[in-house]
Amino acid sequence: MSLPADSHVHTQFSWDAPNGDMLATCARAIEVGLPAVAFTEHVDHTVLQVSREGLDPDHFLLQLRESDGTVTPPAFDATGYLAAVADCRERFPQLRILSGLELGEPHRHVEQVAALLGAGDSDRVLGSLHTLPHADGYAEPPGLYTHRAPGEVLRSYLAEVAALVSGTDVFEVLAHVDYPVRSWPQVRGPFEPSEFEAEFRHTLGVTASSGRVLEINTVVPFHALLLRWWREEGGAAVTFGSDAHEPNDVARGFRDAVQLAEACGFRPGPRPYDVWGRS
Ligand SMILES: [Zn+2]
Ligand SMILES: [Zn+2]
Repeated sequence: MSLPADSHVHTQFSWDAPNGDMLATCARAIEVGLPAVAFTEHVDHTVLQVSREGLDPDHFLLQLRESDGTVTPPAFDATGYLAAVADCRERFPQLRILSGLELGEPHRHVEQVAALLGAGDSDRVLGSLHTLPHADGYAEPPGLYTHRAPGEVLRSYLAEVAALVSGTDVFEVLAHVDYPVRSWPQVRGPFEPSEFEAEFRHTLGVTASSGRVLEINTVVPFHALLLRWWREEGGAAVTFGSDAHEPNDVARGFRDAVQLAEACGFRPGPRPYDVWGRS
């Protein structure tokens, strides 16, 4: 099986990747047989509320946490990043290296994002929703689940993804539509997508109509129903993203993801780094 590009990878230029390493990730990508990799570093402007609960005392988030419990994501070093990408392209000519960004909640930070994107080209721009309003700020799903019913968190998440897609045109690929599933509280029982079919179909339909590409994110296995609904709602294309934050996670779960995409009616594009279209 030939592997598709890994279109969602982080390195030391992402503020939440203390073990990121662009050089080692390129070497690992070649070792596992990837034709291409996109370094989609975080660009986040949402100030997070972070609880100490459940985090190791030496967790990197706690080093960034202010006394009021908030974390302000550090700025992205675009210059250093582009220099590192150029260096890697020279060292690894057999690997196609795409530049990219993962924009966190770009619909909430229109001006900052426009200023950043004006500065240069990216081969692959992901749009992401990581947080929802909580108390007088924003929190990620693990924090939200301690205050709200899981089903309600997921429904709010999908509604805001639809708002993200409608609210900005700065990104081409919708990342991890199943983000809240990663931290789904097992005490509620396993995540069952059919319970949320109407909400998923609505968000996927809005995303498809906007011409966006859907990412098959492999941090947790992507549920087959979500991809089937994507196709039924008119979704034209998919990418594959490991969301690796360290070299060894590049292309994780790709063999299963490729089988799933093929079974749901998607096929590779003409070049190995292209998105996959409908077969
Ligand atoms: Zn993300
Ligand atoms: Zn990511």
